[in-house]
Amino acid sequence: SREEVTYFGAGPALLPTDVLENAAKALLDYDHTGLGIAEHSHRSQHATDIINNAKADLASYLDIPDDYDILFMQGGGSGEFSATAYNLVGAWVTRKKAEILEQLGVKSEEDANQEELVSALKKAVESELKLDYLVTGSWSLKAYQEAGRLLGPEHTNIATDSRPINDGKFGKIPEESTWKLSKNPAMVYYCDNETVDGVEFPKFPDVLAPKADGTGPIVVADMSSNILSRRIPVKNFSVIFFGAQKNLGSTGVTVVVIKKSLLPPACPQPSPSLMRKLGLPIPPVVFSYETIAKNNSLYNTLSIFDVYIAGQVLKKLLKTFPDKVDGQQAIADKKAALIYGALEAHPDIYKIVPDKSARSRMNICFRVTKDNDTDKAEAYFLKLGTSFGLTGLKGHRSVGGIRASNYNCIPLAGAEKLVRFLHDFAQP
Ligand code: PMP
Repeated sequence: SREEVTYFGAGPALLPTDVLENAAKALLDYDHTGLGIAEHSHRSQHATDIINNAKADLASYLDIPDDYDILFMQGGGSGEFSATAYNLVGAWVTRKKAEILEQLGVKSEEDANQEELVSALKKAVESELKLDYLVTGSWSLKAYQEAGRLLGPEHTNIATDSRPINDGKFGKIPEESTWKLSKNPAMVYYCDNETVDGVEFPKFPDVLAPKADGTGPIVVADMSSNILSRRIPVKNFSVIFFGAQKNLGSTGVTVVVIKKSLLPPACPQPSPSLMRKLGLPIPPVVFSYETIAKNNSLYNTLSIFDVYIAGQVLKKLLKTFPDKVDGQQAIADKKAALIYGALEAHPDIYKIVPDKSARSRMNICFRVTKDNDTDKAEAYFLKLGTSFGLTGLKGHRSVGGIRASNYNCIPLAGAEKLVRFLHDFAQP
């Protein structure tokens, strides 16, 4: 039964039982309307209220300032690999255009000599347009590859790659002093927590921090697998995105937190015809941040049910933790410390995969080396764990091993149960 199982899957992940019980009722009859939440129109007041409440609660929980907007999108984290590239390239062209118009001494695009403007922009695109990626694991690698596919590899730059300093494998974050950032990149992209490789940035990188005058690089982060688990300096980011299916809710919605200075009126996307002249792609309309923001996430039919679940999870978090994300962070850190502690207590049985300096608090990846037969030991570990109700512990198929995903919904008692199992399994 549900009570007997602690599920450590990497996503979709556990959801609070009371949230699911309420959601089950809401699926049949939402708020005494006689109609289920998945049946109500996305144009109804119910839908708008659910979206606005979820936005307000997320902003409250994470202290997201007023100069940010929150978007609910579809297409998952993978969709955002494309959306970030498309939209941030558009924003780069808008900024570059303003610079060139100033150099040409004209006030608006209409007043400019179009040939002159396009030719100057083309030159800038060819010589300067770069998207920088910090490649520290499988997901940032995928995002980098997608940008190369959409824009051409000549417009992407791996500012750092952790594999060469770690025997060809992910598991470390290279020293910031070795990063090779481009001069004026359209964005610097990184994945705050690499779900497959168990690598988490211990803190916001110093070299990406805004300067005293507020200027700094455009930083984009994928926080799919550690959002809501620790405090983040939101103002250092231009875009933060995350799929809901780990710490926020059910599969089906992706959240984008975006600085309003990247949206109209401050930064309208260039016209499709200009982008075509420059040989650059424009986003499909459902991936256009501008379009989604203008329509309060309701440009097209959104799964309001999924936003409702996310909203209920946020309400529960706010109720449980008066000090909001700091309260959840204390528990997340404690659970991770307990599990790593148990692994470290038996170095001849368990080998933690990532370097200590970059260990994820959310996805705890290790190998079981008992009796020098890892395959056999891990198969036995998984089988025995399952018999005790510890499930979802198999590592990602690309890397193997064991992965305990220690998301917010794993209770302290669940982490403690895993810890006891780790000790018991290590006994001869
Ligand atoms: N980024 C990270 C960090 C992830 O863990 C995942 C999925 N596990 C993705 C992106 C891709 O998300 P999706 O499957 O929703 O496309």
